[in-house]
Amino acid sequence: MGTSEIGLVGLGTMGAALALNIAEKGFDIAVMNRTNSVTRDFVANAGDLAPRLTATEDLQGLVDALATPRAVILMVPAGDVVDDHIERLRAIMDPDDLIIDAGNANFRDTIRRAEAARDSGNPYLGIGVSGGEDGARHGPSIMGGGDRAAWDRISHILTAIAARHEGTPCATYMGPGGAGHFVKAVHNGIEYADMQMIAEIYGLLRDGRGADYGEIASLFERWNDGPLQSYLVEITAKVAAAEDPKTGKPLLSVIEDTAGQKGTGRWTAIEAQHLAAPVPVIEAAVAARNMSAVKDARKAGEDRFGAGAGRFDVPGDETLERAMIAGKIACYTQGFEMLAKASEAFDWGLPLPEIAKVWRAGCIIRSAMLDDMAAALADAPGTSLMLSDSFAKRVEDSTPGLRDTVSKAIAAGHPVPALAAAVTYFDTMRSHRGTADMIQGQRDYFGWHGFARLDDDGRDHHGPWVE
Ligand code: NDP
Repeated sequence: MGTSEIGLVGLGTMGAALALNIAEKGFDIAVMNRTNSVTRDFVANAGDLAPRLTATEDLQGLVDALATPRAVILMVPAGDVVDDHIERLRAIMDPDDLIIDAGNANFRDTIRRAEAARDSGNPYLGIGVSGGEDGARHGPSIMGGGDRAAWDRISHILTAIAARHEGTPCATYMGPGGAGHFVKAVHNGIEYADMQMIAEIYGLLRDGRGADYGEIASLFERWNDGPLQSYLVEITAKVAAAEDPKTGKPLLSVIEDTAGQKGTGRWTAIEAQHLAAPVPVIEAAVAARNMSAVKDARKAGEDRFGAGAGRFDVPGDETLERAMIAGKIACYTQGFEMLAKASEAFDWGLPLPEIAKVWRAGCIIRSAMLDDMAAALADAPGTSLMLSDSFAKRVEDSTPGLRDTVSKAIAAGHPVPALAAAVTYFDTMRSHRGTADMIQGQRDYFGWHGFARLDDDGRDHHGPWVE
């Protein structure tokens, strides 16, 4: 029997960083990678941490190196690779040994795996890990899901390696089944939206105002000292200021304007549809990535119709800052509303204020505003974030800036899909009398779907369409 407290499979970008983090916090860890030379090189280059690492060559070797009851983290690509590892590990592990999938699994896969594990009496966790390589190495944000007893068994390691916000570890149990991976997916959806809104403001500055990259960098740097303080605004300033080592030009000027995605943001948009949860800012951000990818089609559009207006009267810096604040509040309101809906639909009991707290450090969307969001969600459970006492005032103060920015951009033919979705969301969500009466009338006309009347509680009224 081995002595390592935990095992890890998959020494890629995230797995290697996580293993070093675990070792650094004083835990002995056995590691294994499909390509054995990677494992050997990893341990050889681990420096002072090498004594805490045990290199193993296959899953049996990994299992043998672990103290019982065992715990193994999988940090391999999501999908079949995870199922394959679970099957092979289960064949050689004891019934009470724990498997933890720490990759970006689709939460529906995690639900399936957690149910299979529960049926066979095996503990299983699906945990969302955010923060990229640096986060994994020095403190990620960890969103746990699955078997509560299994979480309690391993949480001393997960909280030890997690990021800290003013001393509080950013690692929390979110709920059973796929709750952890679901929260991670929504985190990524919000990440897409945050990034897209920043990119849109960048576009207004670059194309509409004609600002140079240095000016853009300075502005984001300044914004990072105010209410927008966040990791993404901070790195935006650095990216805008970066120089291309090859040409000496601003780096952004040589980067192709097509953005990829691994699918987690897209999953949020898809699940929002399943849940009937309105997340238009996130959806706009996912769509914007897809539009970015069809560069040839955009070129054909520009050839035929001409590009937007180019330079125009872009609002001032303070107005743009307010536009970003309003957009951010709209986007997070949607994200937390979606989490609340999922919590009800899957009976997870998601702790919304704790989610905001876990996102305050370590993860990509960490920001100063999340601290206030955690407080607002705790103070008024069940209230939409934008209606909470502390955020309603900010919405009132910042939305005129968003409206001004979006309307000037649209009038000039400059695309701002996520910011426009944010202002439209705000306007829709403050319209008690909407326009779906027309939709219901149309549906009843062509499909006899029926409608509710304002002057009668009963359903299934119909219009006078049929003779
Ligand atoms: P990498 O591509 O860097 O590493 C993948 C690892 O999985 C390697 O160790 C690789 O081994 C192994 N692997 C790949 N295919 C197989 C297979 N068929 N059988 C066995 N082992 C295999 O990925 P990352 O570290 O970036 O990502 C790992 C997980 O973490 C993914 O689910 C990802 O979505 C998630 N994640 C990634 C983040 C990031 O910023 N990169 C952030 C948060 C989560 P080998 O060396 O042999 O190829």
